[in-house]
Amino acid sequence: MMTSKEPAIRERMDELRETLNHHAYQYYVLDKPEISDQEYDILYRELETLEQAHPELIADDSPTQRVGDTIASGFNKIEHSQPMYSLGNVFNAEEVRAFVERVEKQLAEPVEFLCECKIDGLAISLSYQDGKFIRGATRGDGTVGEDITTNLRTIKSIPLKLKEPLTVDVRGEAYIPKGVFAQINEARDANGEVPLANPRNAAAGGLRQLDPKETAKRQLSVFMYGAVYTDVFHPESQAELFESLKVLGFRTNSLRKVCRTADEILAFIAEVESQRQELPYEIDGVVIKVNNVRQQNQLGYTVKAPRWATAYKFQAEIAETIVNEVEWTVGRTGVVTPTALMDPVALAGTVVQRATLHNVDFIESLDVRLGDKVHIHKAGDIIPEIIYVDLDERPESSEPLTIPKHCPVCDSELVRLNEEVAIRCINPLCPAQKVALISHFTSRNAMNIVGIGEKVVKKLLEYHLVSDIADLYQLQIEDFLQLPNTKEKSATNYYEAIQSSKDRSLERLLFGLGIRHVGAKAARLIAQHFETIEAIMTATPEEIETIEGVGPMISQSIVNYFDEEDTQILIQRLQEAGVNTRYLGIKPAEIAEKDSFWVDKTVVLTGTMEKYTRAEAKNILEDKGATVTSSVSKNTDLLIAGEAAGSKLTKAQNLGIEIFNEAQFLEQI
Ligand code: NAD
Repeated sequence: MMTSKEPAIRERMDELRETLNHHAYQYYVLDKPEISDQEYDILYRELETLEQAHPELIADDSPTQRVGDTIASGFNKIEHSQPMYSLGNVFNAEEVRAFVERVEKQLAEPVEFLCECKIDGLAISLSYQDGKFIRGATRGDGTVGEDITTNLRTIKSIPLKLKEPLTVDVRGEAYIPKGVFAQINEARDANGEVPLANPRNAAAGGLRQLDPKETAKRQLSVFMYGAVYTDVFHPESQAELFESLKVLGFRTNSLRKVCRTADEILAFIAEVESQRQELPYEIDGVVIKVNNVRQQNQLGYTVKAPRWATAYKFQAEIAETIVNEVEWTVGRTGVVTPTALMDPVALAGTVVQRATLHNVDFIESLDVRLGDKVHIHKAGDIIPEIIYVDLDERPESSEPLTIPKHCPVCDSELVRLNEEVAIRCINPLCPAQKVALISHFTSRNAMNIVGIGEKVVKKLLEYHLVSDIADLYQLQIEDFLQLPNTKEKSATNYYEAIQSSKDRSLERLLFGLGIRHVGAKAARLIAQHFETIEAIMTATPEEIETIEGVGPMISQSIVNYFDEEDTQILIQRLQEAGVNTRYLGIKPAEIAEKDSFWVDKTVVLTGTMEKYTRAEAKNILEDKGATVTSSVSKNTDLLIAGEAAGSKLTKAQNLGIEIFNEAQFLEQI
């Protein structure tokens, strides 16, 4: 029987299908989502609900009827030995309880659930023959995936040979560590490119590179959580599967728990959510799986997902606010970047009132205007970003934003170089660039000159006490006394902070110079490799590119930078002032390959060590396969406590966590 409402429902369903299919294509194929996952999920839910009420209206091309999406061209196709499914979703406690009840009812016997983190990455399948890695694929449309074997081989946490000569397909998630994601986006921002939307898309983009070297640069990692069971590989539970995967040499995520009731599941979800910010990888929920494999088989699958598992998705972290103003700031390379200034609003644990607008293209595609009501979220949980403009609420008088033609600081004409999306001030004397460049040099990850931040740098420039970074080392205590409100004590502190920065290792200096594309990580790799600034200055691009993780863009930028006569004079002045230009950290040759003691260990560093700074120790540990986090919890495997360790040490002692002092740490590495 046709109800009067049906045409309207049919129309809404058509519209939802079309919208969802468009966004799925943007997301799965192009890795360029235009809306947030939460917004997608809301529309998806609406379609699902309408389809449940009107099953006769379900269309073949509905996103609810397919597992993944179209396969991108450019890669060979691989048919999976068993489909790679998606997961159903639950969004709140009530839905978790309903899931547990449904499963218990269907099985009519006690059920255990294995709860694990939902890693925000890309599902992969790895095939091993007699213990050798032979093939790897993306999920693709669930039945057929893309052959990305060569790219997967660049991921260090994927074993190329198993500890046993087993023939098996294993499944898991490839992801980009949070720190790497942040670095990639910082670099993209500095170059005026649109930052990657989220770590999942960054991972997907990384795995789909046609050049494996590009994949290697994304420093992907994996957590494995599944397998195709066979006569020779058939764990009895999800918990046992994890143990077997670990024994075979796979990286698994230890943040997981067997739960017996909905309350236990909800408690675990709360615990994971409270740790979420600190985890070095991005998660978007918790996956709840029936633990027992016999019971899993009994429950089976829908067209799209297992009936024995579901994903609890964390709450949407979107806030609404109003854009009041756009600020244009000049960075150290002259790129002029727009930032929206908004009414303050709480978002994912902080009060936010600024959101990056990236560049002119971004502004134009979003068409954001002053007075607009907007939705903001944190890209990769870090950078506040506008994702939606509410056109219904747009003030009538609003006009498109004006793009500046002149530098907001020195008034010189702005230009667009080559095909760049960024607009730049190319006046080498622009004071704003100098402020940005010098404060970058003094910043924590560069020369770490404590106390000399942007404010002080501005004053130093204004009072003509410095005009570049080498001038900092000529400053005397009396010079600082000329600055307003500066007494003997602060002047002495400034002076001493500058003096003590002379002993920093080369990678800090190299990063501090602010060379385009050279982030902290690249600077470390290059300094480790060449050891002296002279060696870097005379290196060819080809020599620089032999370093794993350093590509042509970085090498060319370094060579161009050191080719400049001004640079050579600057380096000479730094050296004459006594600034160290040698690498003082650990040498690559001393860094062993992954070390089984450290692989999979979650380590926290506290207190001060004599031999290494905390950042150096962190690098060493990460190179050896450990995960270094900032606070102690019951998931910490080991605390390394230097001198004057405080509350972290006490907490670790209370939790009974293993503790190393500096000597033990040095011996172990
Ligand atoms: P899903 O991401 O909701 O769940 C299935 C996936 O979870 C698996 O394929 C696997 O990759 C992953 N996973 C992570 N940890 C896991 C674990 N421990 N055990 C099992 N699986 C684990 O489903 P989906 O079909 O891959 O994608 C749907 C998601 O994509 C939704 O979150 C949706 O919001 C998003 N999406 C967004 C857009 C957009 O425009 N923003 C468009 C399409 C889809």
